Amino acid sequence: VIVVPAFAWKTVIDTFTTALGIAERVAFLDGVAAGPRPADGGVVTTVVFPQARESAGDWEVDPVEMSAAGRHLRPYGLVRLAQVHSHPTTWTGHSPTDDERAFSHQPGTISIVLPGHALTYPGRGDAGVHLRETDGWRELAHDEVGDYVRVVPSVIDHRRWR
Ligand SMILES: [Zn+2]
Repeated sequence: VIVVPAFAWKTVIDTFTTALGIAERVAFLDGVAAGPRPADGGVVTTVVFPQARESAGDWEVDPVEMSAAGRHLRPYGLVRLAQVHSHPTTWTGHSPTDDERAFSHQPGTISIVLPGHALTYPGRGDAGVHLRETDGWRELAHDEVGDYVRVVPSVIDHRRWR
């Protein structure tokens, strides 16, 4: 399972929605791996926004920018845990280009698609969560998502006014 602190999820949405203009946006969720395989998941510590070519209906990260966006991984002992990108409409499926351009094709890789340019502040339940299996990508059923992606509180405050 990939554990996503609420702060990290919020950072993705805030940045997607405050970027100049309305376009599909992309980010990567990096963190500490829970095991050697992508399917082992891990804990997200870092959100990365690559320099991408982003338009109303498409996005692409060229190989030079992709490698720049991964340069911090080894020095900090992190791995890329998931990709998040936004779609213009409520459709959160994986397009053929999404299948092709995902950051990894190793089984167990997770790709998250947010609807409506993320303008409605979608939560995990609104997202399309896609799992790479040996023979291709599969969108997880709603009740499966919790086994793969979990959003946890970043702050819990028990203080009371007296
Ligand atoms: Zn897409």
